[in-house]
Amino acid sequence: MALHDLDIARRATLRRITDLARERLGINEAQLVPYGHHKAKIALPYLQSLTERPDGQLILVTATSPTPAGEGKTTTSIGLADAMNLLGHKAVLALREPSIGPVFGMKGGAAGGGRAQVGPMEDINLHFTGDFHAIALAHNLLAAMIDNHIHQGNALGIDVRRVFWRRVVDMNDRALRQITVGLGGPGNGYPREAGFDIVAASEVMAIFCLATSLADLKARLGRIVVAETRDRQPVTAADLKAHGAMAVLLKDALAPNLVQTLENNPALLHGGPFGNIAHGCNSLIATRAALKLGDYAITEAGFGADLGAEKFIDIKCRLAGLQPSAAVLVTTVRALKMHGGVPKDALGSENLAALEQGMANLDRHLHNLREGFGLPCVVAINHFVTDTDAEIALLQNRVALRGVPCAVSRHWAEGGAGATDLARAVVALCDQAPPKTPRFSYADADSLWDKLTQLARTVYGAARVTASPEAEARIAQWQAQGWGHLPVCVAKTQYSFSTDPKLLGAPSGHTLHVREARLSAGAGFVVMVCGDIMTMPGLPVHPGAEGMDIDDAGQVTGLY
Ligand code: ADP
Ligand code: MG
Repeated sequence: MALHDLDIARRATLRRITDLARERLGINEAQLVPYGHHKAKIALPYLQSLTERPDGQLILVTATSPTPAGEGKTTTSIGLADAMNLLGHKAVLALREPSIGPVFGMKGGAAGGGRAQVGPMEDINLHFTGDFHAIALAHNLLAAMIDNHIHQGNALGIDVRRVFWRRVVDMNDRALRQITVGLGGPGNGYPREAGFDIVAASEVMAIFCLATSLADLKARLGRIVVAETRDRQPVTAADLKAHGAMAVLLKDALAPNLVQTLENNPALLHGGPFGNIAHGCNSLIATRAALKLGDYAITEAGFGADLGAEKFIDIKCRLAGLQPSAAVLVTTVRALKMHGGVPKDALGSENLAALEQGMANLDRHLHNLREGFGLPCVVAINHFVTDTDAEIALLQNRVALRGVPCAVSRHWAEGGAGATDLARAVVALCDQAPPKTPRFSYADADSLWDKLTQLARTVYGAARVTASPEAEARIAQWQAQGWGHLPVCVAKTQYSFSTDPKLLGAPSGHTLHVREARLSAGAGFVVMVCGDIMTMPGLPVHPGAEGMDIDDAGQVTGLY
């Protein structure tokens, strides 16, 4: 019987994190803040002292459009890092830290899988080093200060019907999506509609992940627009004098977390913003740390390359001046067969025609990454046991015909040893040419509307962009109020290049319709909501929580 992820994780021997940091990264104990034996934060002043050190090469792991068949970006990132270290290269991972809520729902944990995992798995998937809790508190402090300000006389003239700032909790709890606060009489403030999002959807999380320093964090927190006055003027966190205290709550969390893969290679797990209403990558501080500490820094972007890689480039790289050396485009035979029209329950049998047809999705992503963003690419075929030799051969063959390197990766079953071909291909790409600034989808100076239109045409293959009257008015308002220089962050389904999750493959000529626009002035982008988005997930009929338990010895079961 196949081993569960938790069983595999338990059989691995993790090293003391202080030893690993010293021997592998040259960081001594004084520069670490250990959280137990296997987790530590790396002190920010130490990371600042590395400014003069040259950067390693940045490798972005992204994927074809997600399907229920699964792609495996996190496992591929981990397997690639293990394989590179196995080959004698110094590779450091920079990944997101998981959100607790989904662990008890359907998704489970997010610390990799099979033999490509980071540990300690239970800690990482649960409270870890408390970063999410700190972010939730900072977020909710601001919410409490808004209602208190209104209660105490509302000197800023906040329009209680136009408070945008919601509350957050790290739990999938649909009952909290829409609530009324301030009930129970004058002592409890003014009643108004409010609601909860999950912590990963907080703008504080997005800010946390884009901040370059404590000072930058504070400045961004201050710029958060929480509400409007009756004459539609923005009210910010700085107006409420909340940003200083919010930064106080985040001071420890801002230092990146060091853990290790099951093969004892260093991994930084830090920050976990949503990939829809935020940019979906780990913290910039962790990415920069990985670049200073390793010759190769391997990082993952959420969802498929149309959303994840696009935001990584157009938001994160633009902001920070990052220059990725290569992109790994993860795909699977199963996923491409789904893009080629095969239903999920028929994925077990060979289907070369569907695979060939589904490659349209891979092609579009490859085109975007190479011709669009100008990134050298390697295709990683994440191998599943159900893949047939003929399917693998066909896929390899077709990728080779396009002049793109391709490697079959068996990290899930074999760990780093199964991903050495991929590692060699990545190193070869990095050696080919020095990294350069990627090509962005639009210029800072373009208007918000033009930014969205260019992105939709070039990356999604859309023919036109439309917007609801409300969204259009909002976009015009923010353009006029001085936020036109910000990048756009599109929230749309991850399953399709279009806004219809059922349009698989490589649809084109569609219309991108903006239903709603949201200003994230602190994070520094304007969110264009195209279709339904979820900022507070719910639990399924049988939540993962039902299968979890702990015995008298403290041994956890059912976590995956
Ligand atoms: P992503 O980062 O793209 O969301 P993950 O790497 O987290 O994907 O993988 C999603 C799930 O699929 C995990 O439970 C992982 O263990 C599983 N998985 C990934 N690759 C394989 C594989 N080759 N064979 C079987 N299961 C896999
Ligand atoms: Mg992942």
